Amino acid sequence: MEPLFLPNGAKFALERLESRGYEAYVVGGCVRDSLLGLSPHDWDLTTNATPDETAAAFSDCRLIDYGKKHGTVTVLFHGEPLEITTYRLDGVYTDNRHPASVTFSKTLADDLARRDFTVNAMAYHPARGLVDLFGGANDLARRAIRCVGNAETRFEEDGLRILRAVRFASALDFSLEPETGRAVHARVALLDHIARERIREEWNKLLLGKSPAKILSAYPDVAARAIPAFAGAGRVDPAALSAAPNDLIIRLSVLFHVYLSKENRLETADRAMRDLRYDNAAREETLAVLELAGADMDPAEAAVRRLLVSHAPQTLKRALEAKRCLGIPFPEKIPAVLETVLARGDCVALRDLAVNGRDLMNAGIPAGKPVGAVLNRLFEAVVEGDLPNRKDALLRAAADMRRPE
Ligand code: ATP
Ligand code: MG
Repeated sequence: MEPLFLPNGAKFALERLESRGYEAYVVGGCVRDSLLGLSPHDWDLTTNATPDETAAAFSDCRLIDYGKKHGTVTVLFHGEPLEITTYRLDGVYTDNRHPASVTFSKTLADDLARRDFTVNAMAYHPARGLVDLFGGANDLARRAIRCVGNAETRFEEDGLRILRAVRFASALDFSLEPETGRAVHARVALLDHIARERIREEWNKLLLGKSPAKILSAYPDVAARAIPAFAGAGRVDPAALSAAPNDLIIRLSVLFHVYLSKENRLETADRAMRDLRYDNAAREETLAVLELAGADMDPAEAAVRRLLVSHAPQTLKRALEAKRCLGIPFPEKIPAVLETVLARGDCVALRDLAVNGRDLMNAGIPAGKPVGAVLNRLFEAVVEGDLPNRKDALLRAAADMRRPE
């Protein structure tokens, strides 16, 4: 095997721990991704040093030690977080979620055995090479997600692993090894015990993976546990997802469009997103895109400006993308009209108007309601294209509006 490329932070941390007489490895996702030729987004270390010993070894660095009771100390190396976790041996699981106790261990093998999938259970050290006790490299080559140990037992310990299995398959475009796949179907109801926020995080990663459509067709039961409203959808083909760019809002909108029936689509999507505790911004944006994607669009410049009065340009662009993925026709001129209107900086908000309240008051319009009313009428006329957005023209029109009939 070729040596893996380690960033300076990971090398520094390994050397530092070893210089203090501890054993340490990089582990988990970073090893998996390196072996796949992907660049890891973060580097996790595992060590026989206890959390206090780790903290002491890095006393000259900035530490974030919020995870200390689970054995994790986060060291900031030039702003890059390095998670250093003490070898763990998970205790007995009592509630399908958390081990009743976390025990630290002195052996790497214990730590690897508690990990979820073989491809996530490999450790690496520049001098000692790869430690692969469960056939992770072989499963990477076969593109398979396989539980470490008995799949049903591992899912009973922690139901979230059911969704994680499907999430990693989507993220990497892998398949579930048959035994693990069977256990997912058999134990899918265990997902009901898991906190909705944790479900949401895995669900998002699933949607943003390489092959969400493929995996959702193979595991519709998992989709229906994450989003109960999908349970009634029957056999849905989420193929439209395959055409979607890697954008969570677009992918969620496309999914809601294909899974939910037209009559109560928006309400049901709203409830599903509240249930998974999405933040308001993500929920409102998804609903706006979902609604626009299902609506007719008029390519007239005034109509596009009207849309921009109530929606950000990004929302309209997402809606057009969603329509494209879903095969919902729209006038082909629209993207170009949108670009023109945006490039020209057409007035689509009161603050873009060439006059403001002060200008109108200076022109003799009484403060308060009268100014507000005139301002709104001028704004509407400009958006409609009935007036140019120029100060002289708008002041003249304002004077006309105030003249008694
Ligand atoms: P990603 O690139 O998405 O972050 P990752 O492999 O780093 O992938 P994490 O969720 O960050 O995934 O978890 C880090 C590692 O911790 C995993 O690779 C796995 O070894 C272990 N792990 C995480 N969650 C669980 C779990 N629920 N059960 C067992 N092991 C887990
Ligand atoms: Mg990670």
